[in-house]
Amino acid sequence: MSVPVLSVKNLSIDYIGDETDFRAVDDVSFDIGPGEFFGLAGESGCGKSTIAFAISRLHRPPALIRSGQILLQGRNVLDLDKEQLRKFRWSEVAMVFQSAMNSLNPVLTIETQFYDVLHTHLGMNRAQARERAAELLKLVDISVDRLKSYPHQCSGGMRQRIVIAICLALNPKLLIMDEPTTALDVVVQREILQRIDKLRVELGFSVLFITHDLGLMVQVCDRIGVMLEGKLVEVNGAHDIYTAPQHDYTRKLWASMPRLHGEQIRQGAQQ
Ligand code: ADP
Ligand code: MG
Repeated sequence: MSVPVLSVKNLSIDYIGDETDFRAVDDVSFDIGPGEFFGLAGESGCGKSTIAFAISRLHRPPALIRSGQILLQGRNVLDLDKEQLRKFRWSEVAMVFQSAMNSLNPVLTIETQFYDVLHTHLGMNRAQARERAAELLKLVDISVDRLKSYPHQCSGGMRQRIVIAICLALNPKLLIMDEPTTALDVVVQREILQRIDKLRVELGFSVLFITHDLGLMVQVCDRIGVMLEGKLVEVNGAHDIYTAPQHDYTRKLWASMPRLHGEQIRQGAQQ
């Protein structure tokens, strides 16, 4: 088997309280292979975002990593110092949040926001950054004219795709998407995920896709992990998660969902 891009080993994370600590992530282990589209599913509050933030080293108190390892291409992310962390973000791991489309700076043009990342990390000048930004916008199917726009002049779906393009600027090995399309309508959601899937094949990055929508997940993921109250209770191929769920809770999740998506499971999702 090829070396995983991401390897989470026995990860436990607490939220520290005055009286007691709350274990939000409990001894979780999983791997994501090169170019793999991996999903993390489970009801709201089960610990998905806590894991995503820890992988990106964006977790803050009261979150405390109690034990475990997060290996990115064999290197423990939890050991990185400040300077290593600066290089690690964007170029190794990039993260798109649910509200990412609102994270664009409202007073700067799209072009300047690309420039900020490309200049800071790659030392590009304005002209070089403009050229690269145009390429990146093309990847997410947005006209280069948009470089002159401000965020409020773009639709929600467009802004979310712009954030994804910025995230891809430094060719990350792993793209984490935490409920990236939840605020968008279903058609736009699907378009964005299809676009990401295509880019993943073209550019070769891996994806950690987080959502509570298991139906949407089986359409795009290779493998899916199901979480329940901080624990990873099942990891399985997308096809098997749908047709032969192993854990009671996975069956319950399906039972709580309208059966709309099953026939659209992605080609090749079968292991
Ligand atoms: P999910 O992304 O699956 O909805 P989260 O990772 O956001 O779940 O949260 C997991 C659990 O940790 C929840 O029970 C939540 O209430 C708790 N939690 C999240 N953030 C904090 C915080 N800053 N302080 C205390 N508890 C938190
Ligand atoms: Mg969350």
